[in-house]
Amino acid sequence: MKTFEELGVAPQIRRAIEEMGYENPMPVQEEVIPYLLAETSDVIALAQTGTGKTAAFGLPVLQKIDTKENVPQALILCPTRELCLQIAGDLADYSKYIDNLRVLPVYGGSSIESQIKALKRGVQIIVATPGRLIDLINRKTVHLDNIRYVVLDEADEMLNMGFTDSIDEILSKVPDTRTMLLFSATMPKEIAKITRKYMDSPKEITIGRKNEGSNNVKHVYYLVHARDKYLALKRIADYYPNIYGIIFCRTRRETQEIADKLIQDGYSADSLHGDLSQQQRDYVMQKFRIKNIQLLVATDVAARGLDVDSLTHVINYGLPDDIESYTHRSGRTGRAGKTGISIGIIHVKEKGKVREIEKIINKKFEIGEIPSGDDICEKQLFNFVDRLEKVKVNEDEIGRLLPAVYRKLDWLEKEDIIKRAVSLEFNRLIDYYRDAAEIESPSERYSSRDDSSYPRRKDRDRQGGNPRQAERGYVRLFINIGRTDNTNPATLMGLVNDYVPGKVAIGRIDIMQNFSFFEVPERDANKVIKGMSNQDNNGRRISIEIAQGGSGGGGSRSRDSRPGSSSRGGSYNRDSRPGGGPRSGGYKGEGGAKKGHRKGGKRS
Ligand code: AMP
Repeated sequence: MKTFEELGVAPQIRRAIEEMGYENPMPVQEEVIPYLLAETSDVIALAQTGTGKTAAFGLPVLQKIDTKENVPQALILCPTRELCLQIAGDLADYSKYIDNLRVLPVYGGSSIESQIKALKRGVQIIVATPGRLIDLINRKTVHLDNIRYVVLDEADEMLNMGFTDSIDEILSKVPDTRTMLLFSATMPKEIAKITRKYMDSPKEITIGRKNEGSNNVKHVYYLVHARDKYLALKRIADYYPNIYGIIFCRTRRETQEIADKLIQDGYSADSLHGDLSQQQRDYVMQKFRIKNIQLLVATDVAARGLDVDSLTHVINYGLPDDIESYTHRSGRTGRAGKTGISIGIIHVKEKGKVREIEKIINKKFEIGEIPSGDDICEKQLFNFVDRLEKVKVNEDEIGRLLPAVYRKLDWLEKEDIIKRAVSLEFNRLIDYYRDAAEIESPSERYSSRDDSSYPRRKDRDRQGGNPRQAERGYVRLFINIGRTDNTNPATLMGLVNDYVPGKVAIGRIDIMQNFSFFEVPERDANKVIKGMSNQDNNGRRISIEIAQGGSGGGGSRSRDSRPGSSSRGGSYNRDSRPGGGPRSGGYKGEGGAKKGHRKGGKRS
């Protein structure tokens, strides 16, 4: 590995970057810097954000500026105002020890007059979003005749945002002799077109493989019914108590809805989308940057300006229509040497997209299993213990109150105090998950071969002898036909139709390998059993009975029946495992969970 000095970076720039903690060049810098300093040719660099690309183009461009000439010599185009400000800020930091070097960010959404004034005073580097720059060109307040370097940063994003014509127009005003650099995370056809049109036998540099997502990112998808998407999201958020992530939604409306629900359910969340004013967006982004909120629900476009290196998760609330966007979304985590998880909460129809994305990122998705209530409680519990161990104690302020507190708790043993502290924090979470139905994976109901690898937690649980309770007012029936008999929910409902007189509402259906369960209203149970018993199903005699523990009991579901319930001294109450705790204020319930969990359909 070479040093910045060996790459040819000037001493005053090295001094500034050393102060910023840059010890050695990152790969993209090692490739691009000597090339640009030698002014050999144009460069196309395929690099994701977070790879150090700003310094890769920034350092050589700064070094090449003639500070005696007070005219624009370098133009950096980027898609958003936030990126514009960030690049300009980085360049200002790098050039701290270069006298008379002026960088101006030019972007929409702020006073054009002050930008015009600054341009009149003279600048050498303009960092601009395309729209505002065109505005200034049209007002004849910016002149590009002396530009020697043009950088297109996040070129694919600029094209996605519809800036193709603006870029064309801007580049037509720049002298042909300029050196051009194009940075892009992906290489769609449109970029290839631009490079052919404007670049002169460019050198192509790829950091990582082409179109490949970061190696630090694990990709996981959870397959759920569309109606369970929100519940799945909540469980995932609950399972990672220290989550710091962006939840990408497709539309502004969905973004707002999901954020509203999360806030209502007590999560530390907010929304970011185009219906908000610039001021509101700035405010939300700032809150997220300083980790005042853990979950940011955003549209692709609105999140573009946000640059945060430490995201633990990116959650795709459904996969993006344009699968290239997945690369951008997932590339927001696993940065700066950290690992990250990119999650897709998807329904069956999106599985085709998973395969397409796998080709692009050159990596396989893992198939996730929605965490069970028990898993979540346990995870939260240990997180709470961890926080309890690490909490900062303000001896001075709290000290004077402690003797009275000690006196009051004097009658309790240490173990009792721990149990109570944990219960205080946890009872709500435990109560909530005790009553929450597990989220069913579509693969359990539809025996698609493709889904055979999906972990079937509930199958295991049931076969392991923990019978599922029927929904309130329903009875769970066992029937001796399953996947091996080509049974699926539709054929099962067909059999009920054929053999049982009158209307029967069918609730949850679980098709297993050799048998199945389905729920019917209590009042219809005998009718269904009578009608179907001993009937023929493709040569096999039907045997049907009430499943073990199968009655919903009109709301009398016993708390004790759930494994891990506190009244049975389950996993949360074991003295050997104290602790845990939800994020402050969380867990107001799964909202429509119970309603949403009524499975199957009405037959007519
Ligand atoms: P970028 O891809 O330009 O957004 O850079 C990603 C992050 O890496 C930023 O926080 C930079 O400040 C940081 N960075 C860039 N180059 C180096 C380097 N050579 N050493 C350490 N950090 C760097």
